[in-house]
Amino acid sequence: PFEKSKGQHILKNPMLVETIVQKSGIKPTDVVLEIGPGTGNLTKKLLEVAKSVVAVELDPRMVLELNRRFQGTPHSSRLKLIEGDVLKCELPYFDICVANIPYQISSPLTFKLLVHRPAFRCAVIMFQREFAMRLVANPGDALYCRLSVNTQLLARVSHLLKVGRNNFRPPPKVDSAVVRVEPRRPLPPVNFKEWDGLVRLCFNRKNKTLGSIFRQRSVLSLLQKNYKTLQATQKVQMEEDKVSSEDVTVLAEMIEELSMGNDDEKEVEEEEEMEVEEDMGLVGEGGESSSFKDKVLRVLKQGDFAEKRAAKLTQVDFLYLLSLFSKAGIHFS
Ligand code: SAM
Repeated sequence: PFEKSKGQHILKNPMLVETIVQKSGIKPTDVVLEIGPGTGNLTKKLLEVAKSVVAVELDPRMVLELNRRFQGTPHSSRLKLIEGDVLKCELPYFDICVANIPYQISSPLTFKLLVHRPAFRCAVIMFQREFAMRLVANPGDALYCRLSVNTQLLARVSHLLKVGRNNFRPPPKVDSAVVRVEPRRPLPPVNFKEWDGLVRLCFNRKNKTLGSIFRQRSVLSLLQKNYKTLQATQKVQMEEDKVSSEDVTVLAEMIEELSMGNDDEKEVEEEEEMEVEEDMGLVGEGGESSSFKDKVLRVLKQGDFAEKRAAKLTQVDFLYLLSLFSKAGIHFS
């Protein structure tokens, strides 16, 4: 009866459900958003502590069963069921999100929540363990990646619970973990398109030094193209870094990409090995001039970044590096 394609793994351990609800810190005044309530084991506990629960469920059979389960109970008036795909529907107002989600929607759902306005207090979500560890990874951890950096720019994330596969029926093939995600308010004053452009370049080869990444001909010619375009349109330096409505669109695109598995898991193939220094001509094959290359390398040197690697850079490092590039008129989008 349970559909694999919809990631239907029901929580069967009541103690675990209880722990998740406790750790969520729900207040009696809170509206809770639940995603994928399934047969309603978590829903029931949420209704006992929250003001109300809005639950979004894709499977009409589950919606039917939920209606049956709560009909005529004292809770029924405080439960609102929305039948549909959480990625496609407009989210209602909520204070807290608590969910045991189908793992295939982890990335897009996380970012959908993070750009949702008004910002909620926190989300307590069950993820596949490896995904959870990526979200909370710190510089130097093996799983530190573009997903970690981008999520942590927008939210504080912390690991709450390890959950073995046998807590579910049927058990999934992987272990799980519950993570707490708390949106940063206000968001850091960063142009996200620029931010993601830089982070993506750095994590394409996260164990290479930035010096070697920014010496690559393809990287230099991309940056020089951006540089020229901006100069031509006289916009250089005039844009203040800021959070705009455009950023939200950019984030939405970022989400799509991350969710398509385009993350840094697979590092770019080593087709262009480190470029040999070119001081012969002024212009490289890609049209990038050596003076532009010097400009880029000077920025790295200025912040002492040339010998550093993305795998070890903190949020603050990335923010600083981005501001140095921006001051030099070098842009990533
Ligand atoms: N919350 C229940 C529990 O803990 O026992 C069930 C969790 S089960 C892992 C995931 C639930 O999400 C299933 O009921 C499934 O039908 C539902 N679901 C799958 N894709 C969804 C989507 N895109 N939008 C909303 N619900 C979805």
